[in-house]
Amino acid sequence: MTATSHRFYVGDIECIAVNDGTFSYPTGWMFSNVPPEQVESRLRESNLPTTHIESPYTCLLVKAGLRKVLVDTGADGLAPTTGDLFRNLAALGVTAGEITDVVLTHGHPDHIGGVLDSSGQLAFPNARYTMSTTEWDFWTAPSPLHDVAMDGHMKQLLVDCAQKNLPALEGRIDLFEGEKEIVPGIQAIPAPGHTPGHVALLISSGKAQFLHLSDTVLSPLHMENPSWRNVFDLDVDVAVNTRQRLFDRATVDGVGALVYHFPFPGLGRVKSWGSAFRWEAGI
Ligand SMILES: [Zn+2]
Repeated sequence: MTATSHRFYVGDIECIAVNDGTFSYPTGWMFSNVPPEQVESRLRESNLPTTHIESPYTCLLVKAGLRKVLVDTGADGLAPTTGDLFRNLAALGVTAGEITDVVLTHGHPDHIGGVLDSSGQLAFPNARYTMSTTEWDFWTAPSPLHDVAMDGHMKQLLVDCAQKNLPALEGRIDLFEGEKEIVPGIQAIPAPGHTPGHVALLISSGKAQFLHLSDTVLSPLHMENPSWRNVFDLDVDVAVNTRQRLFDRATVDGVGALVYHFPFPGLGRVKSWGSAFRWEAGI
């Protein structure tokens, strides 16, 4: 049986990576500017399927003092293989009502798709929600993505999900700009490119630090090949710069990291590798 949660500590702060399920993406979406043969041979070397990328959704529960902070909400209802977050939190003895804060790293369906429950009510009824102002403004604009070149079906899915979930947070969400401590011990770091207001999170306790990279990178192969792109990054050049900046920071500081879509539990370290980087799983 695949593990559904993984506990670790950042100094005194207890953190638990919690699986929401997995989603299968066509390989070409993850590596949109790479000759298929090149990607396939690299996937074969890693004993991975070549036709699709099986991508986990990994939420993070952070117990900071009296706060129970949930980072991202998974994608309830997106597919039969997603939406396990609530069951997996319950298995840890954590009820939705106990969550005090929900941090949304960005507005994509696999991160905000658990904001509402199946009856349309806030799934975490007592939580204070947090998102970057840039991200909120982008997705709550009258027609987000109207000037973005993207598959029409995907565009509709992204816009529908944002328009369904985000208005429900009006009056319940705190917006922030720049590098900002959003919960004691958790600092947001702007990480634009994937989306305009996408953020990474630096979790600190004493001298211990941990970097939640969210969707700064989607596959370990993007670390080894910085020019490889995916169809989800809205501004690919900005995304490449963000990766370089945050990977440099992770390498220099030697901190543990979490990447939302890497093999569960998505924990590891960023290592320099020639002029690029490599992912070393496990912390
Ligand atoms: Zn994502």
